[in-house]
Amino acid sequence: MIQLLTIIGARPQIIKAAAFSRAVATWNATHSPSEQICETILHTGQHYDDNMSEVFFRELGVPSPQIQLHTQLPEEMLSGVEQALQSAHYDGVVLYGDTNSTLAGAKAADKMHVPAFHVEAGLRSWNIQMPEEYNRIVADSISQLLFTPTDTATNNLKQEGKEHIIQTGDLMYDNALWFSDIAEQKSDVLHRLNIAEEPYVLATVHRQSNADSEWNMMTISVALERIAEKTKVVLPLHPRTRKEMDGDLLNRLISNPQIVLTEPVSFLDMIQLEKNATLVMTDSGGVQKEAFFFGKPCVILREETEWVEIVDCGAAVLAGADTERIVRAYELLINKPVPQASQWYGNGHAAEQMVKEIYSAIKH
Ligand code: UDP
Repeated sequence: MIQLLTIIGARPQIIKAAAFSRAVATWNATHSPSEQICETILHTGQHYDDNMSEVFFRELGVPSPQIQLHTQLPEEMLSGVEQALQSAHYDGVVLYGDTNSTLAGAKAADKMHVPAFHVEAGLRSWNIQMPEEYNRIVADSISQLLFTPTDTATNNLKQEGKEHIIQTGDLMYDNALWFSDIAEQKSDVLHRLNIAEEPYVLATVHRQSNADSEWNMMTISVALERIAEKTKVVLPLHPRTRKEMDGDLLNRLISNPQIVLTEPVSFLDMIQLEKNATLVMTDSGGVQKEAFFFGKPCVILREETEWVEIVDCGAAVLAGADTERIVRAYELLINKPVPQASQWYGNGHAAEQMVKEIYSAIKH
């Protein structure tokens, strides 16, 4: 039996944990009692609202966290993970992505000499102003196994001279395949938002560089208003963006009959929205990839992306937060077919390979 501590905290990590925990359950169902993997989930509390956290546990079958912290402060997260690692024996720590919770998990594992395994290793935006870039570089430099989602991520790590790189593919692709039909059956979001019969663009904005900048939020909002003159726009608004946004601007979007502004939606609702949109506009890493998985063109509301393949193949365009560039990118992409090349993200069994590799690394 091996003991793993999985660190989560932010929305995308809970979704990633769904794929990993599913793979642990499959492993346990097919292995003897002595080879079982016991996974303990630690939730830092980085995201805590029902629609940013709880709903994903209910909907995606992620086991409830056995250890629950209640903090957004990096130093409190760090000491919380350290205490967890002191209070019980763990053979390894599983880290996802690039959030403050990832960083806390990486630093605590390093300090307590517990091997860390980094899922989504090797991604680089080459923009060190992004807090996520620092977090992922630290997690990659501390971790014993580096699970990369793409060729690009693997090459980035090779160029940095890293070892123990295992290209598994992307466990978010596993999730997109796994939940696609389930979303079709269970989600009523198209009817709830009254968009079942209409074409619409799906938009999300939450990156610090946009949400915390009044200017960027204004220029992006004006672009959404311009696009809303041609088609409906569905905007599930991240709580950070809502909090930071100028009240008048927010009211303008809310009162625009062509803009459907909602609270964040569940993952099944989100997949259903992505699958039925004509185009996606986002600064989210996960959402731009899901757009690609479901064959939708994407306007990326950033100046760079870690998922360069989708830009290189013409399925997505980097438009920053510039109104004119966003509208031009929309016009360029709206009727453009998206190449089918999901194999770039693996075979849909990335998480199963991770579990196998972690087990062998701990046992040998
Ligand atoms: N997502 C969701 N509901 C929403 C918005 C996003 O379930 O209202 C999902 C989305 O499908 C993707 C993940 O959240 O799987 C992306 O998370 P986020 O955009 O917060 O972070 P990033 O991917 O940029 O790290």
